[in-house]
Amino acid sequence: MSYTIESHEFAARDFIGGDAALDFINTVSGRDQSPRDWIDSYARLLEWATLVRLLPERNLRALTKKMHGEPAAAAPALTRAKELREDLFALVSAIATRNAPPKSALATLREHWLAGTDAHELRFEGGRVIADIRADAADFDLIAALVAYRMVEHVMPQPVDRLRICGGTNCAWVFIDSSKAGRRRWCDMAVCGNVAKAQRFYARSRRRYAAATR
Ligand SMILES: [Zn+2]
Repeated sequence: MSYTIESHEFAARDFIGGDAALDFINTVSGRDQSPRDWIDSYARLLEWATLVRLLPERNLRALTKKMHGEPAAAAPALTRAKELREDLFALVSAIATRNAPPKSALATLREHWLAGTDAHELRFEGGRVIADIRADAADFDLIAALVAYRMVEHVMPQPVDRLRICGGTNCAWVFIDSSKAGRRRWCDMAVCGNVAKAQRFYARSRRRYAAATR
């Protein structure tokens, strides 16, 4: 399937996954029909990471500086991040549909997760041990590494029946349903939910019209 790359201004409405790792998967929408990829450059990936607060300010600054200094080296890291993104989608959609994820997806996730773990340090502060992102972590693969880290540490421990794929057409966004009732079906009711409602209404009124003119 070919992805159309679009330049996109990220906003709060794009972060509905319940975790940055899921929001990263959702930087492609419409995987079920005509996929659009909203990460058109490494700079955009950084902008995304800033908005979801994936990493501290100081690491972001170091990465931005590095990107301006060696732009050619950032490109392969962007490709790797996008490969991880597809593996994460395969993983989440398999889990959400009660299937075994592809082994290759787990292997890719593990590789980036280990890098993400390595980007952390353990500090003793206020009587407890805290895992924090190292101040000197500024590898181009850091964003992918931290996404993988979050996926393993925060998303995978969630109850599997709360991992969902939006039921809307041309969407396929993934999210954690943290609602009390556990019946969330849409990425956003105002986006996919209403479209589905309108489609049902349209189908119903068409049936009624057909019946009336029979
Ligand atoms: Zn949706």
